Amino acid sequence: MLTLRNPATEEVICELPHASVADADAAIEKAKAASPAWKAMAPADRSKVMRRFADTVAAHVDELALLETQNMGMPIGSSRWCANAVSDVLHYFAGAVEKHTGSSIPVAGGIDVTFHEPLGVVGLITPWNFPMLMASWKIGPALAAGNTAVLKPAEITPLTSIRIGELALEAGIPEGVLNVVVGPGRTVGQRLVDHPDVRKVAFTGSTEVGKQLMRGCADQVKRLTLELGGKSANIVFADADLEKAAANAPGAVFDNSGQDCCSRSRVLVQRSVFDRFMELFIDAAKAFTVGDPMDPSTAMGPLVTAGHLAAVRRYSEGLETVFTGEAPDGPGYWHPVMIATPTYDDPVCHEEIFGPVAVVIPFDDEADAIRICNDSIYGLSGSVWTQDGAKAIRVVRAMEAGTLSVNSNSSVRYSTPFGGFKQSGLGREHSMHVLDHYSELKNVFFAT
Ligand code: NAD
Repeated sequence: MLTLRNPATEEVICELPHASVADADAAIEKAKAASPAWKAMAPADRSKVMRRFADTVAAHVDELALLETQNMGMPIGSSRWCANAVSDVLHYFAGAVEKHTGSSIPVAGGIDVTFHEPLGVVGLITPWNFPMLMASWKIGPALAAGNTAVLKPAEITPLTSIRIGELALEAGIPEGVLNVVVGPGRTVGQRLVDHPDVRKVAFTGSTEVGKQLMRGCADQVKRLTLELGGKSANIVFADADLEKAAANAPGAVFDNSGQDCCSRSRVLVQRSVFDRFMELFIDAAKAFTVGDPMDPSTAMGPLVTAGHLAAVRRYSEGLETVFTGEAPDGPGYWHPVMIATPTYDDPVCHEEIFGPVAVVIPFDDEADAIRICNDSIYGLSGSVWTQDGAKAIRVVRAMEAGTLSVNSNSSVRYSTPFGGFKQSGLGREHSMHVLDHYSELKNVFFAT
């Protein structure tokens, strides 16, 4: 039995039975049985039913937002944004169904034609930090490409995923096309990796577990995409609009209580403007209110569980900070926002904390900024702040990261590719590119 608590109050929200490996097998069996009809459905019809699914989600935004906030502590405004984004993502991929087309290639003696064939049953494994959003990033392209799916959400935050599964059925997605199984990663998640009828695993989570999955998938050469951890750099050059860069810096690391794979948790600041930037950054962080996630004016809620709070505290306790914000006393898994300027060899400068802790590191020049940025096992996201366009282009081209922004901290959109370099992942989500990860490319030669 799984006991879910509201992270802002520690009150029990509900108790859920754990699915067993046998339940996972049953879900895989259902997905397999539903596969031929879903694959054979005319693309226009598949698109239509996916649009109804997207509309049904849009009609339940308030309910989904409330569930997300109560289950994982996300501020209600952000939860509402996420619920709307789930609908947008599903709409985008409903529209993509008819647009993911093959090509014809003239060759000697005939013509080659390519087809994007669905894989069959795909396993979707999601983390707890943006539960419904991460689920939609996988459900949308999986179904659009003609696959059926078994979704295994993080066992501590399954409520919105369960509800989305119900809404799919209400919208007319045929039974068996989308299945949701709630249980532990090491049993139910592992079964998606091991089961021979699951042709691909799409995983978002920690780099450690991602590596285990990669080993597990090797035996069957199972298709695998990985969206993993990060320690992204927010690079502020002396010629940047410092006020704007500093005003954006707190949200870039503290949003979602820092539980964001794209969190720009390493703030790299050119030495000549370091002191001025720090004043502005600290001022902006003071306005970052931490409190009741049901209050629409709250910027940051609690951390997700007592266990995760303890993990973040292992980094933050004893850390010398230049600014520590205020956070409510318990009950609730509260952690204040923190800004620190530790020495470079301190693990907080290199390891993913996944909490509201920003480290600020000075740099001398462009080459130094790039060197520090790339001195990481990760390469997911990042930002560059400068008013020199040529410099911005040089720097983003040199940064070893997949999802970047210039003079902004926003870099995630369903219509543009998203993913990481190095140990931040493998493959891409979003955009038409992701559909290639949910299908096999078949080539046929027709002799003429
Ligand atoms: P996690 O790796 O502990 O768990 C992720 C999912 O994997 C959960 O559903 C879990 O039950 C499952 N799992 C665990 N062990 C498994 C196993 N042996 N086999 C199959 N499934 C297993 O990650 P988390 O703590 O839920 O999430 C936080 C991590 O996710 C952070 O590192 C964060 O950076 C990363 N993340 C990455 C992205 C991205 O897009 N790159 C997005 C969000 C979160």
